[in-house]
Order: sequence, then C-alpha cells, then structure tokens
Amino acid sequence: MEIKFTKASQLKEKPDFNKLGFGKYVTDYMFVMDYDHEQGWHDPQIVPYDEFMMDPRCVTLHYGLETFEGMKAYRTADDRIQLFRPEMNAKRMIKSNERLCLAEVPEDMFVEAVKALVAIEKDWVPNLPETSLYIRPVTYASECSIGVHPPKSCRFYVILSPVGCYYPEGVNPVKIYVEEEYVRAVIGGTGFCKCGGNYAASVKAQEKAQKMGYTQVLWLDGVHREYVEEVGTMNVMFKIDGKVVTPPLEGSVLPGITRDSIIHVLKDWGYEVEERRLSIHELMEAARTGRLEEAWGTGTAAVISPIGELNYRGEIVTVSDFKTGELTQKLYDFLTGIQWGKIEDPYGWTVEV
Ligand SMILES: *Cc1c(COP(=O)(O)O)cnc(C)c1O
Repeated sequence: MEIKFTKASQLKEKPDFNKLGFGKYVTDYMFVMDYDHEQGWHDPQIVPYDEFMMDPRCVTLHYGLETFEGMKAYRTADDRIQLFRPEMNAKRMIKSNERLCLAEVPEDMFVEAVKALVAIEKDWVPNLPETSLYIRPVTYASECSIGVHPPKSCRFYVILSPVGCYYPEGVNPVKIYVEEEYVRAVIGGTGFCKCGGNYAASVKAQEKAQKMGYTQVLWLDGVHREYVEEVGTMNVMFKIDGKVVTPPLEGSVLPGITRDSIIHVLKDWGYEVEERRLSIHELMEAARTGRLEEAWGTGTAAVISPIGELNYRGEIVTVSDFKTGELTQKLYDFLTGIQWGKIEDPYGWTVEV
C-alpha cells in the first residue's frame, strides 16, 4: 500500500505526560482511506489531524453505520515501541464490518496503516508508567442518502491519543451495579461487533449507575435478564472456588483480545477456565457463601479492572474485601509487563513498530 503523506505546517506542543487523562489529546496526524464500489479502497493518506466535512445526509449520522477498534502502542524501557496483537483488532473489525455491511479493511492494510501512523507519531508515545498511545481505528459509511441500505461508500480512519490510566482512581476496585432494566445486546444483534450502536444503547444504564454511586453496570442477557454478559465496556471474569468463570462468546458478548489473552495465560498457569453461562443467582450465592474469591473486567483501555462490590436488587456484596485480588493483580502485572516490555513475551504477542 502506497501511503501519501502530507506534512503539517506546524506541530502541536506535547502535553504534560503526567496529566494525560484518557482521550483528552490527539496527535498531529491521522490516517484516512476511502472506499467505493468502483475503486475499492483507494487514496490511503496520512494527513494533519483535522475536521471532516460531512453532508447532513451522511447515513452514519442517521443509521449508525459505524464500527471502531481500540488498541495501544507502548514504549518499552529500552525505547522500543510495540503493539499488542494488532492482527486481532484487524480481524475483529472485519467481522464487525461484515455484520454492518461496511466495506471490510483487509487485515494487512489495517495493520500497515496503524504501524505507519504510529511510526510517524512515535514521539507521542508517552514514557511514564501506566501511559500509552491509544489507537482508534474507525470505519463509517460515507454515503449520502436518506434511505436505509448497505452503503456504497465508506471511510476508514485512524487517530491517536496519548493516555494515562483509564479510570481516574487507577487500578483499584470499582463498584458495579447489576442492571436489570436495560440490556446491551441480544443474540442475533450486534453484541459481538465493536460498533457505535452498542454504546448508544448503553449510556443510559451507565448514567443510571453513576447517579447511584456506581462506576459501571454488570450487563445481564437480553432474553432472561439472568446470565452475566459483560461489565460496562469490558469482558468479565470471576474466580469461584479456585476456577475462573467467564461468559461464553455466543453472539451477544464482545470477543475481547484481553479476554482471549487472559484465558490463554490462566490455562498456562494451570487454572481451570470455564467459558459458560453464569447466572446472577449463582454468582450472588457464591458471593454470599464466600466462594466468590475475585472478580475483574478485562479490556484494552484499563487492561484489568478489579471489581470490589456488586449491587443486585439492592443486595450488596463485597468481593475480596474491596481489595485487588491476588490473581487479579498477578494477571495485571503479567499482561502489562509484556505490553510495556518489562518481561519477556513468551507468546509472540507484541509487534514492534
Ligand atoms: C472493546 C470491548 C471489550 C474489550 O475488548 P479488548 O479487545 O479486550 O479491548 C469488551 N467489551 C466491549 C463491549 C467492548 O467494546
């Protein structure tokens, strides 16, 4: 792929890497590439970060024909810059786009675009503990028409944001509200896709939980409102009686790359991992009887986020005495150790830029 590069007339001043927050800053450049039926994907470019002009008829604004990815570039102690399993993000976006009838970005093009942009912006990869360069690839339908149909034209773009910890409270246990009124996804819908529509349907529940003093919601399945699915925008895992239980990928749960990596690591460490349906009643009973040893969410943004409290129908249970569990911490240290190059990567998951 031949990527055209347009140099910015002036570069931005870098922010204080101690005060990055999450998603507050963007870098100098972005990757943009367009698709239509006649030309396929064409004109890949790296251009100065700027606004898009958009016709008010753009179908994405009306029908939400949009998918995205979330990944990170990490700076190692010896100043290398590496990605974590980027081909998995590329593959997942292909599946998301397929479901939404958006043009699929071939895996090699996706990875090449990300690598090329990060390489140009390498000075933006922060060097402090817990910091990284967040990468946000997006596909949206760029066609202008009022009707609903598979779009004839799409745009794929990638932007970058230097970030610190996802939660302002850092890697500390969070309080979770078990949501029964609203659901995130159903089998047959788009739960397995990383698409904006899933998030549009979820912010109401998040608002409700936050008003009650909770950081996030625990989603139950859309049919029975009984089986645990995800926690906020993360996959969820529970250590019960020494085994790790996590909901299976049946169509309503997002196939997280962190989830996949953690399952791999746990099995290598000799843990039994059960990918199976877990009812909220079974979970609450395990919590009441002290068999729920640890609980955590997994996702690229926060990596591992310990769960310290669950509220289901007003019954409140505490997990691991509201402390980060031993296994939770060990997994966090191991995975982030690989990502920041502090420990050797035994799996070949890291890709140097
Ligand atoms: C992105 C996302 C995850 C986590 O996926 P990772 O690949 O681990 O970052 C989990 N659930 C939802 C709903 C997501 O959007």
